[in-house]
Amino acid sequence: MAEDNHAIGIDLGTTYSCVAVWQADHVEILVNNYGHRTTRSYVTFADNKRLVGDEAFSEAGKFPANSIFDSKRLIGRRFSDATVQNDIKCWPFKVIEGPADKPLIVVNHNGEEKKFAAEDISSMVLAKMREIAESYLCSKTSVKNAVITVPSYFNDSQRQATIEAGKLAGLNVLRIINEPTAAAIAYGIDKKAGWFHKRNVMIFDWGGGTLDVSLLTIGDNVFDVKATAGDTHLGGEDLDNRMVNYCIQEFQRKHKVGIGENVKALRKAKIACENAKKVLSFSPDVTIEIDSWYRGEDFYTTFTRDMFEKLNMDIFEKCMEPVKRCLEDAKIDISKVDDVVLVGGSSRIPKVQELLMEVFKGKELCNSINPDEAVAYGAAVQAAALSGNVTGKLQDFTLLDVIPLSLGFECEERDSSKLFMNVVIPRNSKIPVRKTKSVTTKRDNQKSVDFSIYEGESSIAKNNNFLGKFSLDGIPPAPKFVPQFTVYFDMDANGVLGVSAEDTSTGQTKGIKINRGRTK
Ligand code: AMP
Repeated sequence: MAEDNHAIGIDLGTTYSCVAVWQADHVEILVNNYGHRTTRSYVTFADNKRLVGDEAFSEAGKFPANSIFDSKRLIGRRFSDATVQNDIKCWPFKVIEGPADKPLIVVNHNGEEKKFAAEDISSMVLAKMREIAESYLCSKTSVKNAVITVPSYFNDSQRQATIEAGKLAGLNVLRIINEPTAAAIAYGIDKKAGWFHKRNVMIFDWGGGTLDVSLLTIGDNVFDVKATAGDTHLGGEDLDNRMVNYCIQEFQRKHKVGIGENVKALRKAKIACENAKKVLSFSPDVTIEIDSWYRGEDFYTTFTRDMFEKLNMDIFEKCMEPVKRCLEDAKIDISKVDDVVLVGGSSRIPKVQELLMEVFKGKELCNSINPDEAVAYGAAVQAAALSGNVTGKLQDFTLLDVIPLSLGFECEERDSSKLFMNVVIPRNSKIPVRKTKSVTTKRDNQKSVDFSIYEGESSIAKNNNFLGKFSLDGIPPAPKFVPQFTVYFDMDANGVLGVSAEDTSTGQTKGIKINRGRTK
């Protein structure tokens, strides 16, 4: 197949994915073969074939243990991670511990047991999105270049694993960009010149698995992210799981029989509860109906919005924490926020909107962009800008993003052996950025110093995400506290982090490069 020079934007979502392309000075959201503008992030290993997307979802009922979803909740995480352990309890498919604490998804397909990493499953979804783009653009060309979005709060390993998924799908990943930033581009790019000089815009992006909040100043095609905050494990799926558990308890109460881990029954309940949840965003009550749910027994129950809110109030309140943190980090007062923009399917929930309005002292929220498509839309704009296709509206397009998590190295306190995180680049620093720190030795005649690099907000380095390590050796003998080293942290516009250390007495330098795939 010939190669196409189009660059696509892909929103790789927990529950749905969306693909878009910039053409003739506007964005096209691309429709799948079911006529849908978003595609289920599902892979089903059915008899003799592998199905991906909406087809995989519609066949999932027949192959519940072989239908994989939520790979975004696993990607770049460790098997021992508490969130992974909790999720496993709710999934009808099997997840085991692989080498180096990596979770592996196990399916039985064509009489063979197969194991997949989360990035393998995500790559299948990405390949599907690529196919959708190819069939829309021209079936004779293969689309290679893509911008893929991730939650802004994704850490290094989650970003790396997403890049890997893109490569496995045969894509040339031009850039990984943050979902709320992409949504902000969708919000601002079509605004007519002079519509606003400069506006402070908060993006509240709550999807199936993650919550992202970003505060940007937008004006004259410059998208300047001031701060970002979020939770990579808080989404609509958590609400579905609570409703499923409620139904299981109700069934047990009525029929004195437990559903246990019956995968077919769990799947039926999940679909019924997700649908009911969506109805409750527009209606005060809903009937949850699950025909022949378990042992031939039907299940019916009326579920009110009030019950839904009580069941999930702690989750809704948890959503407000990143909002407040983002405002504090951006040092922008609530009264100075011009627009609060809702993105992501779960932002349609009335209680969440109510709590958000309370935080913003009654301010009207902005529903003007399509919450399901905005992220792919912005990714397509960035893809076009990066691929050199800069005509018309894209001419002065500039995106200035920030790092979501602090970067630093593990250090011993000067007067004790307590280890702590020595932050070099604080979270929400604008990139590109270069920062330095001075360090010294802790023991007389110390011969080498180790540098272990981490990202995260815990003051104990080991509780953060480990990125890599290196040592500076051959330090000339000297009393403790005398040798002086300078540690350099450089993050370039491509999100490549380089860390090096220099012994100022000998001029010896050592370091490592960590490719993080950050936004420009
Ligand atoms: P996204 O990741 O942005 O595609 O959002 C998907 C999530 O939004 C899923 O958990 C959906 O169940 C949820 N969702 C979609 N529409 C609604 C709605 N009307 N009310 C509540 N949740 C919704």
